[in-house]
This record gives sequence, C-alpha cells and structure tokens, in this order.
Amino acid sequence: MRPESLYPLFAPMTALPGVGPRLAPLVEKITGPHVVDMLWHLPYGLVDRRFMPKVAEAPAGRIATLRVQVDQHLPSTSSRRPYRVICSDDSGTLTLVFFHAKGDWLDRLLPVGSERIVSGMVENFNDGPQMTHPDHVVPSAQLAEVMTIEPVYPLTAGLPGKIVVKAAKAALERTPQLPEWIDPTFLQRQAWPSWRTALQCVHAPTGEADLSPVSPARQRLAYDEMLANQLALGLVRASLRKLAGRSIVGDGRLRRKIVDSLPFQLTGAQQRSLVEIERDMVAPSRMLRLLQGDVGSGKTVVALLAMAAAVECGCQAALMAPTEILARQHLATLQGAAETAGLRLALLTGRDKGKARGKILEALAAGEIDILIGTHALFQDGVVFRDLALAVIDEQHRFGVHQRLDLAAKGQAIDMLVMTATPIPRTLMLTAYGDMDVSRLDEKPPGRRPIDTRVLPLARLDEVVEGVRRAIGAGAKVYWICPLVEESEKIDLAAAAERHAELTTLLGSRVGLVHGKMKGAEKDAAMAAFAADGLDLLVATTVIEVGVNVPEATVMVIEHAERFGLAQLHQLRGRIGRSDRASTCLLLYGSPLSENAKARLNILRDSEDGFQIAEEDLRLRGAGELLGTRQSGLPEFRLADLTQHGDLLATARNDARLILETDPDLQKPRGQALRTLLYLFERDAVVKTLRSG
Ligand code: ADP
Ligand code: MG
Repeated sequence: MRPESLYPLFAPMTALPGVGPRLAPLVEKITGPHVVDMLWHLPYGLVDRRFMPKVAEAPAGRIATLRVQVDQHLPSTSSRRPYRVICSDDSGTLTLVFFHAKGDWLDRLLPVGSERIVSGMVENFNDGPQMTHPDHVVPSAQLAEVMTIEPVYPLTAGLPGKIVVKAAKAALERTPQLPEWIDPTFLQRQAWPSWRTALQCVHAPTGEADLSPVSPARQRLAYDEMLANQLALGLVRASLRKLAGRSIVGDGRLRRKIVDSLPFQLTGAQQRSLVEIERDMVAPSRMLRLLQGDVGSGKTVVALLAMAAAVECGCQAALMAPTEILARQHLATLQGAAETAGLRLALLTGRDKGKARGKILEALAAGEIDILIGTHALFQDGVVFRDLALAVIDEQHRFGVHQRLDLAAKGQAIDMLVMTATPIPRTLMLTAYGDMDVSRLDEKPPGRRPIDTRVLPLARLDEVVEGVRRAIGAGAKVYWICPLVEESEKIDLAAAAERHAELTTLLGSRVGLVHGKMKGAEKDAAMAAFAADGLDLLVATTVIEVGVNVPEATVMVIEHAERFGLAQLHQLRGRIGRSDRASTCLLLYGSPLSENAKARLNILRDSEDGFQIAEEDLRLRGAGELLGTRQSGLPEFRLADLTQHGDLLATARNDARLILETDPDLQKPRGQALRTLLYLFERDAVVKTLRSG
C-alpha cells in the first residue's frame, strides 16, 4: 500500500488552490491527474520581476514592475475596443489595456486614486508606454510578493500561467520530506541536494543555470526517476523468475522436420539465437529473453522452432501478436511448416465469440492444440492451456512491463520469448528491457537487394502516380501509406479514403484500402487480396506497420513522411525489399520542410540499418521525442532526458542491481526508502511483488 507520507501528493489536482473544476482538465492535460504530477512539471524559463524602473524609463519589450497611481478609467465604447485605465507616476503616464474586461471587476482591482503595483510586459503605443493585461496588479503593500523571479511553465491554450505558478507552489508546500533513497556516499560525491530541496530548486530557478538539465537538482531528480525505472525492471525480472521454471528438453524430431522443409538455410544469427533460446529452455529457471532483430531478419522462424521444442516435450506454446492482421498472418505463414511436422495450430482472437471460441478453448484444455496463435485475447481469463510451456510475444514494443507482469500473474512458470523489431539505441534498451536477456539477429537473410529510397515533395505526386503505374505494369505490388494521427484521425481517414478513390480512378479497380477503423473481416479481405494477387496497390494507414509479409510487394509510397517517426518509417519500409527483386521506397513530404526534418528523412535515404537510424534519430531529436512517440511502448521519462542523463542511467542500473542483490525484498532502511521511491513514480504494481514488510 502507498505510504501515508505520499497521500498529499496523490490527491487529485483539484486539491490545489486555483485549480477548480473548470481549469482542472487543462492542468491535467499538461501534467497528469495527481498533485505529484505538478511536481514533475518543470519550468523551462524564468521571469525576473525585480526590475522596477520609473514609468518613463521602462523600456518596451521587457517585463517590468511599476508603482503607479490610478488616475482614470476609460471604459470600452464597443466590444472590439479595449477598456483602458490611465495610471502615472511622477515621471510619466502608463496606459493599462484590457480586452473583454468587466468594468466592476476593474473598478475593484484598480480604484481611481489608489496606488498599485503592476507587473507585466511593457509596450510602446503611440509614443506612450502601455501594458496589456498585466500579469500582476496588487496594492503597493504587497510589493514583495511581486518582486520575485517567477518560473515559466509549459502551458496549454486557455490555461493562465499564474494558475500553474500558484499550483506548483502549493504542490511544493504539500511535499513531505522523504527518507533518502540514494546511497549517501554517491549523493555526496555528486553534490546533489536532498529530494525535497531539489524540487524546491527546480521550481524556483534564480538564473539560467538552474534551468539546465545538468544542474545538480535536475540531475538528482532525473536519477531518482531512472533508479525507480531500473529498480522496477529488476523487480519484474525477480518476480518472473521467482516461480521455479522447468526444464524443456525436446528430442529435436519436430525441429528437424521443420528445418528440412524450409526453402532456405537458417542464417548464422538465427542459429546462434536458437542455441541461446534452447539453452534457456533446457535450464530449470525461467527464460525471459528478448529476440531483437531488424525488420525482415527472420524472427518468425526462430519463434516457430522454439515453440516446436516445447511441443516435442508434450507441452503447448502460444504466440501473441499485437494485431488481428498479424495473428492471422502468423497462422498462415506457420501453417505450411507446422503441418509437415504434424503440429496442430489454432487461432484465437477477440473476434472469436460464443461457440467457436468455446470449441477452441475446449481443444486447448484437452491438449489437442499444440500452438495457439492470437492477440492479447490469448491471455484473458477463461483461456486455460493443458500445459503451456512457452509464450512468444511478437513485436513487443506494443506491450509494456505491465503486460509482462500480467502474464507472470497467470501463475504459470512459463518461459517467455519476446520479439521486437524496434531498433532501440543501446542506452534506451536498458530503460525498456533491463530485465531481459537479449539475443540479436544482426544478420539479414542472404540475397536481399538494397531498397532504393528517395525523398520527394508531395508536389510531384503526378510523377509518382505515373511511376507507380509503370511499376504495376511491370508486375510490381505497391503499398501506398497515408499517415494517421490520433489528433486528426477523422481528417486523416478521409484523406486516405480520398486517395484510394483517386488512385482507383487513375489506376483501375485493382486498388484496395485498409485502415484501422475498418471491420476485421474487411481488413482481412483487403490484406488477403493484396497478398494473393487480387490487388496491385494497397492504400493503407499504418495498420500494416508491424510484421506484415507480402514478399512480392516491391514499391512503397509514404505520404507526409515527415509526420512519421524514423523508427516507424524504417518499420514501414521493411515491408518491401523482402525478395530478390529490386525495391523502391518514395518518401513524400509536405512543403515547407524544415532543415532538421529534411536531415531526418535523408538518414533514411542513406541507411537501412535500423540501429544506425535509431542512433541518428536520437541525436537529431533527443530522447524525449523519440520516447514520446506513444506507440513506441518505451517508458516515457518526465524528468530524465537520456541525451543529457544517459550516463546516469548506467549508474542507476548498477545501483539497482546491487540493491536487489543485498536486499532483494527492500526490507532494510534504504530498501524501505526505495519502496517510497517506487510508489512516488507509480510503480505500485512491482511493489506488490515484494514480500510485505
Ligand atoms: P521479421 O523478423 O521481420 O519478423 P520474418 O520472420 O517475417 O521477419 O521474415 C521475413 C522473410 O524472410 C520471410 O519471408 C521469411 O520466410 C524469410 N526468411 C527468414 N529466414 C530466412 C533465411 N534464413 N533465409 C532466407 N529467407 C528467410
Ligand atoms: Mg515479424
């Protein structure tokens, strides 16, 4: 249970003064639902309000705090004209300007004849200084409250900065002193402040140095976050390994049959990975292994062979894919090899209901299915295997640590093989998969021709369509990708549908459409038609992104390529270049394109190496954005920026390891403090895996 000391921080945001029901949704949108999220919302700038010139000497374009006499109110004469309040000091006159303001409110704020402190941006209008909507207006007795250095926070439309400043201050006041969880010697060596002091520093910057990501206070908070991350991963790993595993020793007869039936030789990397996987399966402890391989590196057959090893022992295996389309495709590609070896496959997805589902579940419980393929429906309640020994999770980047824990909570000591094509730079790797052993497919199947990638403006669409027409004439199959972003989903879907209609007019009826909002059966039909040569061109939103395998497809057009992440583009492009025929990828961008965006697309033009692309992308965009792409499934850090704090991540990892070696259940005093840290960063689920204490 969450320690009581943290209760004030996990109160709803509305517990903070000034955050009422009207503003709460706006505040929550940029911070999060709880008071603690306000603490993590760090200022990016500051305003020095200590500058207090005479009115006549206040320079335009600078924030100033002025002491003035209120002389006269000039109410607005029409709704478009502002309300003006004329003020002065002994040096000159200042006009305060208010749009859409209520007169009685201004009368109370600025009574004629009173003295007021006003602070805000000074402008020059008709040769006289004026201030539009001053940030502060207070009686002169409250001068000290205004004459400060004020933090500037990221905001959203409709949310006044003042509200956030006030809320952050109040959140800090509610912040308890917590027991230190960082090793004291390390803390001293780094010269970092305590947690609470660090928060106070970052929210009350006194100069640019305090805003730097490498200021001691920011480094400390970043370290806290990374330590929580690494500790959580370590605990997940420990909990997954707590259940004694079992030794899976097959006799190799099914695997031999499958290998013999393949139309190709396994690559060296595939063989090496298989040895590593089989070694884990034979060992009595549980396997928790990540199989990392660029798109097209041949992960599926590795998975099949691992699953066959489980079946050789009379056990069952499961293969989970992130989408319905992929699950079906896995079934289709595995069927041939599996049948030769006499493996019984079945498919279970969210679409199976009622009797059909009942039948599958019955067969599964009776052990009449060897390998069950499906979506996350596989691991829902009610799905009972007779004897599940191995779970393979494909395209892991759509699943998080949470799902890994859910799986473990099934109580079965199953071996887990997780497959991902996300080419994550090594530093980031630690943050997402620090709990897993890794096998790498760092070698592509032979005979692949490089993909000819070109970067073109959308304005050359006509030429592109002509090129596509010629390619189809020569027997090519073409993917045409349209972007789809959540925020503008409707418009994007309409654009994809429109493009489909347009291309049908230009190229004929063998043009299909597939997008995420279509019914499952319709999607399958379109994909199947494309794979089976019923269609020449498939207009698609990114549903085809992961894993789809149609080797005959050799051309891909991506519209508005600048709207995609590089990793995503690389994944998409991986759908072509899957045969010995030459492939072409056209990245169409909307103009104007910034230099940086152009540089990013050029990386893709110049490289097909997922790791190199990821490293370059990280360099150009910074980890924040790279990790920020929601679908990456990588943890999003609020305080740590891996381009700035990457070296601390390795320290956090070692620290977490040492902690778990010496105090695996976090019982000692530092362990107790670390439990609080885990709760603070909302890793409640992993704390539950610990023995209480
Ligand atoms: P991914 O790693 O992206 O999931 P797949 O498993 O879908 O890749 O494999 C991509 C393609 O490469 C498939 O058509 C598969 O049959 C083929 N393939 C896999 N291994 C080899 C190999 N060793 N030699 C030749 N082709 C292979
Ligand atoms: Mg795959």
